[in-house]
Amino acid sequence: RQGWLDRLKSGLRRTGSGIATVFTGTRIDEDLYEELEAALLMADSGVSATQHLLNDLRRRVKEAKATEPAAVKALLAEAIADLLKPLQKPLVIGEHKPTVIMVAGVNGAGKTTSIGKLTRHLADEGASVLLAAADTFRAAAREQLAVWADRNTVDIVTQEGGDPAAVCFDAVSAGRARGKDVVLVDTAGRLPTQLHLMEELRKIKRVVNKADPTGPHEVLLVIDGNTGQNALAQVKAFDEALQLTGLVITKLDGTAKGGVLCAIARERPVPVYFIGVGEKLEDLETFDAREYAQALLS
Ligand code: GDP
Repeated sequence: RQGWLDRLKSGLRRTGSGIATVFTGTRIDEDLYEELEAALLMADSGVSATQHLLNDLRRRVKEAKATEPAAVKALLAEAIADLLKPLQKPLVIGEHKPTVIMVAGVNGAGKTTSIGKLTRHLADEGASVLLAAADTFRAAAREQLAVWADRNTVDIVTQEGGDPAAVCFDAVSAGRARGKDVVLVDTAGRLPTQLHLMEELRKIKRVVNKADPTGPHEVLLVIDGNTGQNALAQVKAFDEALQLTGLVITKLDGTAKGGVLCAIARERPVPVYFIGVGEKLEDLETFDAREYAQALLS
């Protein structure tokens, strides 16, 4: 378990977002708060979360009568953890059989990889999984998902050409017929600005609901942690179109600055079910607000 935290820390540190370096001086003064403001903004926290954190920190510092930068840093870690806490929520399966999980995202966000990892995670919990490859147009996308299905030895429902929503309908029906615990629906990557493709997602959601009137039970968005404030824009746009139930934030082992989670917590608090910290099957971790705050300040 320590391994992923180290990778997250070194990923976040590599960026030089510099939040930690603000606290290397000896004094607590206005300069420190100014530097901190700049560092939080640089780390993609956005204006609203940055102001919230600065105000919260000033209050905490006063209350604790903190006099050392190290103590202020510890108080900031608490402030960030409290801000992020509402995002910490587990993905619960088992209330419905199958639990139908629809997954969306822009191309390259790490959607397919995350579905592969999530399949492994669910299998580790003892759940049987069926994958639905709803990208009927790109053969490469279907093949890539089939590779993850193979690695996890789970069934996959796919179809070349035709209506993506129809594939999803078939997959959910097959999931019910085969008594699967989870049906994971991989949708084709798209940008929120591609309105007809966003409409297609809404249609998939409606059609899944026809196949299972209680579903989809989860609608996840996969976002690339490296895309900074753009990630927040994606969360807002996909949430408006689909009413998201959760997020997967990928590539936090890379050059991500990490503050975008603060922006999400402040402006569109959709739960972060998982974070991606590598390219391998096991590189998916549940999100822990306190650990994440520590990593952000390491
Ligand atoms: P999709 O287009 O959204 O389905 O994206 P893919 O799943 O194909 O991933 C795009 C690239 O990002 C691939 O090279 C993945 O190996 C890589 N990737 C996905 N998740 C992570 C992650 O958490 N960490 C790292 N370092 N790479 C990742």
